[in-house]
Amino acid sequence: MFENLQDRFGRVLKNVRGMGRLTESNIKDTLREVRMALLEADVALPVVREFVEQVRGKAMGEEVLRSLTPGQTLVKIVNDELISLMGEANAGLDLNVQPPAVILMAGLQGSGKTTSVAKLARWLREKQDRKVMVVSCDVYRPAAIEQLRMLAAEVEAECFPGSGDQDPVDIARRANEAAKKQFFDVLIVDTAGRLHVDAAMMDEIRALHGAVVPAETLFVVDSMTGQDAANTAKAFDAALPLTGVVLTKADGDARGGAALSIRHITGKPIKFLGVGEKTAALEPFHPDRVASRILGMGDVLSLVEEVQSKVDHEQARRLVRKLKKGKGFDLADYREQLVQMSNLGSVTELMDKLPGMNGIPDQVKQQVNDRELVKLIAIINSMTPQERTFPAVIKGSRKRRIAAGSGTRIQDVNQLLKQFTQLQKMMKKMKGGGMAKMMRGLTGRMPGGMLPGGLPF
Ligand code: GDP
Ligand code: MG
Repeated sequence: MFENLQDRFGRVLKNVRGMGRLTESNIKDTLREVRMALLEADVALPVVREFVEQVRGKAMGEEVLRSLTPGQTLVKIVNDELISLMGEANAGLDLNVQPPAVILMAGLQGSGKTTSVAKLARWLREKQDRKVMVVSCDVYRPAAIEQLRMLAAEVEAECFPGSGDQDPVDIARRANEAAKKQFFDVLIVDTAGRLHVDAAMMDEIRALHGAVVPAETLFVVDSMTGQDAANTAKAFDAALPLTGVVLTKADGDARGGAALSIRHITGKPIKFLGVGEKTAALEPFHPDRVASRILGMGDVLSLVEEVQSKVDHEQARRLVRKLKKGKGFDLADYREQLVQMSNLGSVTELMDKLPGMNGIPDQVKQQVNDRELVKLIAIINSMTPQERTFPAVIKGSRKRRIAAGSGTRIQDVNQLLKQFTQLQKMMKKMKGGGMAKMMRGLTGRMPGGMLPGGLPF
């Protein structure tokens, strides 16, 4: 889902994350690329413009330019704007009416209405414990009524019988009465679609709307139609008051233009995503989750927030100052890093939130677990201040003492020293700016491929 957009954004934001300093010019470059990415994803132009303007306004703010992690902050701004574009929070169904609450489904032919009726019936029964009846008012295609009947049986919903020779409005009215008599909580009304928006279809759906007075009027639209989805939604909304959108076939949509345009163009929330042909393939639409999917970040933002709240910024700054003065990175500094990391909570948990970590086998992840961290800290704790500053003095007998003192084995001490030497070498290689950037990474996000503890994986 949304792979292309994810790819593009991924590349743009990867550069941004590493930026030591945000300037007017690199913000401008980044925004140009963001704009391109959105246009390629078939996001509607007014939406793209507004989005880019919002991000620009926020990115140029004092707070961002002076922040310790400007690149990260910019990523967060983009993320927040994506969320707000899609409507902030999940908009649920409002079925708080005298039962049966009627849900009217509208949309073009082939958009996925009938499938979505079944998915919704299943979701309401399984997740909301509602007693659901469905009815097809698609009298034009004989197979349509049969299609819904079969799907209803599959999802264990009652299907009100109708036939092709009856009037759609009449079928809907009778279904509504039957649902009321039989104490159904919800009645979902499937309707006929045309290939294009036309007057006859609009008249019919308006008449249906008038006859059943729906609690929810959902517009069903194919995600792959991109920004057209938003325009069709707008046309329907002009004919009958929509309360929300079901965006289908999101599983096959690599671009995401519909998801990003609909809310802004129509003012209507996307309430559900169809993510497959099966009746279980329906997800309530959560703007924040979709945004992080698009940014390919796992839960990286909550991670950033966690790190920002827990890491001691003052300590990190002291370290940067010290490094800038040319003093070397020693084991005491390493220990501080490790302690900061352990403050963050479970490393394994943390790693799950990092992007790109999904591919790493659990076995490997567990090698860098929390106990490992505690062990490393214990080893450094057992060293004298002199040993921490000049690790070269740590030879055989000292190693034995340190291992005994920390309850570890000599191999563990060796391993820590090796890791530390690698880390130190890496730091030396970096020029002044690179070092500061890395330390900044410490308080923001882990630099690529390495946790701040210098644990390589
Ligand atoms: P209707 O004409 O609006 O009632 O559309 P249908 O419900 O009959 O769906 C048309 C086609 O789209 C069918 O082949 C469905 O299986 C397929 N479809 C519907 N929703 C989804 C979805 O979320 N994902 C995928 N991959 N296919 C879907
Ligand atoms: Mg249908």
